[in-house]
Amino acid sequence: MSTAYIALGANLGDPAATVNAAFAAISGLPQTRLIATSALYRTAPVGITEQPEFINAAARVDTTLAPEALLDALLAIEQQFGRVRELRNGPRTLDLDVLLYDDQIIDTPRLTLPHPRLHLRAFVLYPLADVAPELTIPGRGTLAAWLPAVANQGIIRL
Ligand code: ADP
Ligand code: MG
Repeated sequence: MSTAYIALGANLGDPAATVNAAFAAISGLPQTRLIATSALYRTAPVGITEQPEFINAAARVDTTLAPEALLDALLAIEQQFGRVRELRNGPRTLDLDVLLYDDQIIDTPRLTLPHPRLHLRAFVLYPLADVAPELTIPGRGTLAAWLPAVANQGIIRL
């Protein structure tokens, strides 16, 4: 059994309802148990700023799916929620990223673990701290040590 952390983000339609429905979809994945869910956070968009605010959250799962199989399952949930891939960093009904999978370091065209920007983004670190306050990010040190650096990014815990 492995432990993985998943980032959820949405900014179209009713994003809070989408994120809650995505938690339910994750809990229904095969070979996977949903262990913890974060609070929902409201965050300002990064990159393309002329778009609605995001709702972000994180989940901890225990799973026997391999990392690539977990990614495939999450991308299938994105599709189920009607995601259309257009602009990078643009609006999306639902984005599901694998943040960490045990302490594995993976760098393939399809999957980079740990997620390369996770330690730089308040919208990832704050939700992740809810589900894993004691976390160490492989190659980056503790999550707690990165939090102060992102405290100035606008984020509201709902
Ligand atoms: P982003 O999440 O960076 O805004 P997308 O959701 O459109 O962009 O993802 C593009 C691709 O990123 C996915 O098809 C997937 O193969 C790849 N990818 C690489 N590493 C990861 C990861 N850790 N979690 C999710 N997707 C990843
Ligand atoms: Mg993604």
